[in-house]
Amino acid sequence: MYSAAMRMPHDPSAIDRLRPPSPEEPWRVLLSGCIAGLPCGVDGTDYGFGGAMAAFFALPGVVAVPFCPEDAGLGTPRGWPDIHGGDGEDVLAGRARVLDPDGADLTAGMIVGAEAMVRHAHAHAIDFAVLMDMSGACATQVISDGSRFVEERRYRRGVGVAAAALLRAGFPVVSQRDDRTLERLRVRLDPDHVVDAAAEDHHERAWYREYFGTT
Ligand code: SF4
Repeated sequence: MYSAAMRMPHDPSAIDRLRPPSPEEPWRVLLSGCIAGLPCGVDGTDYGFGGAMAAFFALPGVVAVPFCPEDAGLGTPRGWPDIHGGDGEDVLAGRARVLDPDGADLTAGMIVGAEAMVRHAHAHAIDFAVLMDMSGACATQVISDGSRFVEERRYRRGVGVAAAALLRAGFPVVSQRDDRTLERLRVRLDPDHVVDAAAEDHHERAWYREYFGTT
């Protein structure tokens, strides 16, 4: 079981526990490959997300370490893997499965990819991970509750398979949608940065609060 405290939007003190970054010893940040612009999406594209965090990673105290767990475990292109019956932690515990839209079981490949991502994180001594939310592998806030290719797509609070494996291994995570946390990280990198006081993390936004009935 992973520690919820390692999800930085839910425990901002995890940001304070990060070592001081510097140009000489920059934070090494594991980054979902598609956000880094790798053509590793299910369709061989970056889903249009490449460069989405270019300004953050242009700062001198941080370097990106891109990786795609689904490509590592299933190859590209592939069927779209969504979790049925739980989240990524449940998949690792054998309580849920990952299926493609045709019902093919992709669970084993997703676990292989998650384990490869953890090895990559250790090999590069990463400080934390910035991951693509809503992915069956990389999500850190929300996943599809079953296939996304249904008339009325359903969502579940939870993490993807690779994110769960990273959390189990003790690596802090944040999603690319967690703007408030990313702003706080940016201040650690650039003390002169003027924080956007209106920035919200994914779980603070109106859609999330209305859909999941949180306050
Ligand atoms: S598994 Fe992660 S890195 Fe790979 S395409 Fe999906 S969201 Fe991007």
